[in-house]
Formats: sequence, C-alpha cells, structure tokens
Amino acid sequence: MTPSISLIQQIDALLPQTQCGLCGHRDGCLPYAKSIAEGEDANKCVPGGQPVADALAALLSRPKLVAEPSVWEIQSDGRPQRMKAIIREDECIGCTKCISACPVDAIIGSGKLMHTILTDLCTGCELCIPPCPVDCIDLVEDTQSIPTESQRLDEQADLRQRYYAHIQREENRRIHRKGPVVRAEIDTELFAQYTEQNQQLTAIEVIEKSEQPKLILDAKSTIELAKIRTQIKKLEKQLSVRPDAKKQQQLEALLQQLSDVQGE
Ligand code: SF4
Ligand code: SF4
Ligand code: SF4
Repeated sequence: MTPSISLIQQIDALLPQTQCGLCGHRDGCLPYAKSIAEGEDANKCVPGGQPVADALAALLSRPKLVAEPSVWEIQSDGRPQRMKAIIREDECIGCTKCISACPVDAIIGSGKLMHTILTDLCTGCELCIPPCPVDCIDLVEDTQSIPTESQRLDEQADLRQRYYAHIQREENRRIHRKGPVVRAEIDTELFAQYTEQNQQLTAIEVIEKSEQPKLILDAKSTIELAKIRTQIKKLEKQLSVRPDAKKQQQLEALLQQLSDVQGE
C-alpha cells in the first residue's frame, strides 16, 4: 500500500535533515522517511542515534530497535557527537567541487578562489570531503552547546529548506551543465510530490528529461551514454510494473537519443 504523504511528513519531521545518506538513502532524509512508511526498519539514521530511532518506534507503534552505531562518541542527549567541517584555506585550489556536494549550501567561494565553510550551517555530513581533489577539508568536533528541542526543530526546518533549494539548483545546473557535477542525479520526483502538498516548502519543479535540449549535443562521452542507459533502465523497470503513457513517451525519446548519439 502506498503510504500517505501525511505519514511521510510526520516521519520526516523526526529526522535530523543532515541529508548525509548514512541510512542508505543517497538522496537524504525524505526518501528514508518514505521507505520507513513502507516498512523499512526505523533505526538506521546514524546522526539521529537512539533518540530518533525511539521517537520513530513510538510514532509508528513498532518495537524499539537499537540505533545504527556512529563512529563518533555519544553526546549527553543520546545522539552522536555533532561535527563541523573546516577547509584548510591555504591549500584550497578553488575547484568548487565541494560547493556542489554540500546538501545545505554551507560553502561559499567561486572558481579558482579560496572556499570557506559557513560553520553555523555545516552539519558535519562529510559529503564535501570525498570530492575535494587536494584533501584539504577536515572534520572537527562542534563546540557549541547541544541545541534545545525547539532549536533543533528550527534547525531541521532550515536544513530541509536549504536542501530542497539545493536540489532545485543542482537540477538546473545539471541540465545546463554549469560547473562540476559531483553528486549522482537526485530523484526529484518524490521531492516534487512532497513539496506540492506542503505549503511551507518551495515547490520543486521536475525538469522532464525530454526537455533537456543539450543532452544530445553533450552526450558524446561515455558518461553521458551511461546516464542515458541508466535512465532507460529505470523507466523500463517502472513501466514493467505499471504502464504509464508519459513515461513510455520519455522512454521512446531516450531510446531515440541513445540511437542518435551512437550514430545508429
Ligand atoms: S540524517 Fe539520518 S535520515 Fe537523513 S540522510 Fe542522514 S542518516 Fe538518512
Ligand atoms: S560543509 Fe561539508 S560537512 Fe558541512 S554540511 Fe556541507 S557537505 Fe556537509
Ligand atoms: S573541493 Fe577542496 S580544493 Fe575544491 S574548492 Fe572545495 S575545499 Fe577547495
């Protein structure tokens, strides 16, 4: 049975909105919230720790499960130690890859210039560390006091909003090929559905693949071909479960693109 948006919303409200993917859901908290609503175990949010696992068990009237462990010590509130990233600025080469990777837009800087992390916004999710070609980003313990419950809720609302704005910007950047793409393509459909039904969030617009004017021109690389094939596979899988005229059209357009790019 498809879970209601309202249940997904209640679950999402308990998740930290770090968007780190440590629960196994690469696209962040909302996809995990949806999967929990569909029956997945609710103890996998690493930064949320035991308090979040217990709150979810209570919300869903499920047995309590031991939370997935973190590599960090546990704080007095039962959650893992909060961390922050810092850039060793004299080593930064200004490649901008970390900007694209940060889910909450906590990094500022522009091409070939030194970059800086806005410490107040950084959640310590670590997503900026692997793309940095010169390995100049460190993680340090957050020395600020642990937030109260109401501060935490405000922080979560802000992080959610920042992440959704980031998703929309990255979607546009991907289509228009501006700047490095370091993150796998986010499945924006769920976010679009969710924001459509939540007045407090800016609606996310899904850009149809068939509206990507530059895709054919840019697709003469192995990476582009691989991306087209992945989209085709995904659509074929979805269509094998449920026929959908719009998706069928998208599939045909992609097959045509693949054939054009391969010169068939
Ligand atoms: S904060 Fe928790 S729920 Fe959100 S992406 Fe990270 S592990 Fe998953
Ligand atoms: S600066 Fe790095 S660690 Fe901090 S939120 Fe952004 S990606 Fe995560
Ligand atoms: S990824 Fe590393 S080198 Fe590139 S801008 Fe960010 S901190 Fe600087």
